[in-house]
Amino acid sequence: MKPNDIYDLVIIGGGINGTGIARDAAGRGLKVLLAESHDLASATSSASTKLIHGGLRYLEYFEFRLVSEALAEREVLLSIAPHIVWPLEFVLPHERHLRPAWMIRAGLFLYDHLGARAFGLGASRSSLPKSRGVKLAADGYGAGLKPEFEKGFVYFDCWVDDARLVVLNARSAAQHGATILTRTRCTGARRENGAWTVALEGGGAVRSVTARALVNAAGPWVKSLLEHELNVQSPGKVRLVKGSHIVVPRIHDRRHAYILQNPDRRIVFLIPYEREFTLVGTTDVPVSEREGRPEISTAEVAYLCEAASRYTGRAVIPEAVVWSYSGVRALYDDGSADPSAVTRDYHLMLDTGGENGGDAGGAPLVSVFGGKITTYRRLAEHVLDNLSRWFPESRPWTHAEPLPGGDFGDADFDGLLTDFKRRHPKLLVQWLARLLRRHGLLAAAILGDAKTEADLGENFGGGLFEAELRYLVANEWARDAADVLWRRTKCGLHMSAAQRSRVAQFMHDAGHMGEAA
Ligand SMILES: Cc1cc2nc3c(=O)[nH]c(=O)nc-3n(C[C@H](O)[C@H](O)[C@H](O)COP(=O)(O)OP(=O)(O)OC[C@H]3O[C@@H](n4cnc5c(N)ncnc54)[C@H](O)[C@@H]3O)c2cc1C
Repeated sequence: MKPNDIYDLVIIGGGINGTGIARDAAGRGLKVLLAESHDLASATSSASTKLIHGGLRYLEYFEFRLVSEALAEREVLLSIAPHIVWPLEFVLPHERHLRPAWMIRAGLFLYDHLGARAFGLGASRSSLPKSRGVKLAADGYGAGLKPEFEKGFVYFDCWVDDARLVVLNARSAAQHGATILTRTRCTGARRENGAWTVALEGGGAVRSVTARALVNAAGPWVKSLLEHELNVQSPGKVRLVKGSHIVVPRIHDRRHAYILQNPDRRIVFLIPYEREFTLVGTTDVPVSEREGRPEISTAEVAYLCEAASRYTGRAVIPEAVVWSYSGVRALYDDGSADPSAVTRDYHLMLDTGGENGGDAGGAPLVSVFGGKITTYRRLAEHVLDNLSRWFPESRPWTHAEPLPGGDFGDADFDGLLTDFKRRHPKLLVQWLARLLRRHGLLAAAILGDAKTEADLGENFGGGLFEAELRYLVANEWARDAADVLWRRTKCGLHMSAAQRSRVAQFMHDAGHMGEAA
């Protein structure tokens, strides 16, 4: 890169918000550069509960704007990313002493109707079924639960592969001309001659680029980036709240998830995960930025096991935990005392260099505070609205163009799988389904004309073959074993330690970093 490269927009942070903004801006014709200090989705955006949801519980906090926007986004994301987003049915076992039935019914009624209204549809045309009351055992919804839970409610939200959503946004941004730099840290930026001069450090080199506008999408680091690297005073405050999940052997073999009420009024999800497992989460633990990479504590494991075991027939015990992950929510600080009550809505702060956030007509900076995976696409549109004074010609477009691999046309997932099975009859259908879930139509680029497993190169175990690994390196910025085992895929969960080491060795030998399996 030349020292004086000039961009319309430089985005700092390669989580869902940074990559979503990069995609939107690049597709509007802006010259975009995104810098991510580690891997894409290496922070909060791979550590979520992985729901595209309105957030039923946010209704208790009267977050109607957020819930409406999120429910509308559920429909949009289902249509632009059908490979990595799909409907998931939730069962809420009823416990009268925690929340009365009328309250739950009213909440679900509102939930059903807010989404339809926000999308501009009649309720009958929403693509997901409406909520209803059920008898757990009789209707097949009590699997894995204690028999004493007799009644409940079911409703639909959606599941998403969060890390892949980030990567596909980055890929789409790149297809629209954006430059995506991973392992590249923004070490400073200052306003000069009506533009930003941005210092980037990566691959052992320091470089400087010029940007007409800057976006701070650094997630949990949003405030510290402002104060330290950008030297900008902002009234926006952020609350950092850690959330952890545990993964245990599956507690039932049905497709539905559970949403469980806890006596502390929080809710905990039990979600079918990677076929053989159940994902249990999450917690809300206030943290500070100094604490470094978030990790689950023994107290959090105990809390999640206890919350699950109140309901499950067989106790969920800490010894059964096969994997865990933690992320830090960067919540916009609305002054709530309870971390669960802090708003999950996002706030954008536009700074043009004036005193106390006033407009001095300087090069703009938009900082992203808070947000959900679910609302990233609308958030990106709002960021570009904020910048419309500088880029007036641009128009929203991301609701209509499928993400890479997601252009299913009139077909559905099962139809595509049938087609792939026909083209590759000797490959295991379960594996083809997993590949199609990760890559959608782009799975064809990995499979080529492979007839048997041997045509896919080395078999690393856990469903990962050399053909896919090489594809991830060539097309998805994968550089080390963690990138491929825990973010681009979850194959690490299905491998032994020795198999994960072999992947690390392969990445190393192929000239990448190899470590961190
Ligand atoms: C436990 C938990 C559960 C959640 N569940 C859900 C859910 O089910 N559904 C939902 O919609 N949302 C959920 N969320 C919220 C969602 O995960 C976050 O809102 C979202 O991931 C935030 O994305 P981001 O891009 O803002 O931040 P991040 O993903 O954290 O990305 C910020 C990036 O900036 C980079 N960065 C920082 N400083 C620099 C620098 N100086 N130079 C370059 N790069 C830098 C970081 O490396 C990082 O990758 C959950 C969050 C948590 C923690």
